Amino acid sequence: MSQVKVVIHSAPWVLPISRPPIREGAIALFEGRIVGVGHGQDLRLKFPGHEFRFHPDSILVPSFVNAHCHLELSPLKWRLTPTASLTSWVKELVKARSTIGAEEWVPAIKEAINELVEGGTLVVGDVGNTGLVPSIMMEEADDWPLSGIHFLEIIQPEMPSDGDPELTIMNEEAPLIERAFPMEITLSPHGVHTVHASILSAIKKRAQERGLPFTLHVAESPEEMEFLIRGEGPMLELLQHHGRDTSRLSIPNKGPVHFLEELDLLDQTSLLVHCVQLSDDELDIIKKKGANICLCPRSNTFLGVGEPPLQEMVRRGINCAIGTDSLASNDKLDIFSEMTALKRIAPEVPSGTILKMATLGGAKALGLESRFGSLELGRCSPVVALQLPHIPHTTKDVEEAIVTSGTRHAFQIEIIR
Ligand SMILES: [Zn+2]
Repeated sequence: MSQVKVVIHSAPWVLPISRPPIREGAIALFEGRIVGVGHGQDLRLKFPGHEFRFHPDSILVPSFVNAHCHLELSPLKWRLTPTASLTSWVKELVKARSTIGAEEWVPAIKEAINELVEGGTLVVGDVGNTGLVPSIMMEEADDWPLSGIHFLEIIQPEMPSDGDPELTIMNEEAPLIERAFPMEITLSPHGVHTVHASILSAIKKRAQERGLPFTLHVAESPEEMEFLIRGEGPMLELLQHHGRDTSRLSIPNKGPVHFLEELDLLDQTSLLVHCVQLSDDELDIIKKKGANICLCPRSNTFLGVGEPPLQEMVRRGINCAIGTDSLASNDKLDIFSEMTALKRIAPEVPSGTILKMATLGGAKALGLESRFGSLELGRCSPVVALQLPHIPHTTKDVEEAIVTSGTRHAFQIEIIR
């Protein structure tokens, strides 16, 4: 029987993210866990009998974290065009969705999963509302390559007709938490504008009981803000268009962050996705509550909703994560393209800060920082080796090379398990 050994992976640069980059660094892995991080020579002495692997011209980083995607919408790739209105995109989405053949869904989702893995992203916050991704997870079982959380999304803007939001939630969740899936599954509301206040609170309560994050779309489009603050505009028309009973809506007459604060739904386990349309005082509230933000800059461009106030978020020290959103509002699930888009929005934000958003920031936002997001003792593999034609000589240049690369194809990517 062959003995399981510590494997030391060494490279010109190791980027633990939680602390400064290490020149001529190495990590030691044992049964899927990091058991050593430091200089190659030190680790080689520490673990006699180890297996040694050198990764020339490479940078070792933790797996990237895509904190907001909708794998389920992957068959819609190239079927929608960039727009200047979120509500018209939703109408197109509903129409395009009905044209997808039954046989197209699963292959497109599997292709999207491969795209993530090949791009070094092995941790996700994935949102769906059909149960298709959980069924693929069950089918793949031990071969399922991703870690993270699948959020089963609820859209229910009216007060539940039986008047019991907690019962509504339990009925949705029960069939999913009875079985063991390769990723945790929990409920999430779509947004403040599409889920009744009573259900928002019920979902938050369940997430807290289970120690899982509470995530929702927040302040994505001007139409969402118009609807929430004044109870009018294209978002209201869209709900009516979809046959929603608008007499049973809860219009907060304030922006989503103020409303979430009023409902006491903001804390360190809240993950607010997009946050494009936010004022300074709303960002102050997010900081005060310790809530997390997930930025999806390329989806924002596709939907013509504007750019997030990134510099203001960073200045306040808000924990930020990065997501691609779905292939219905993006042409790829490439965390490198998203990092470059953020750098373009706020060039003064250091590349190291953006790299942290794509790794540790995402892990923290999903409540997974004890397992992922950094190269520290006890964290889980996989680890990612990014091979470049030329290795930069300074920390700043290494971080810039990753963040401004624009595409995962700038590197040869090896997944180290
Ligand atoms: Zn989304």
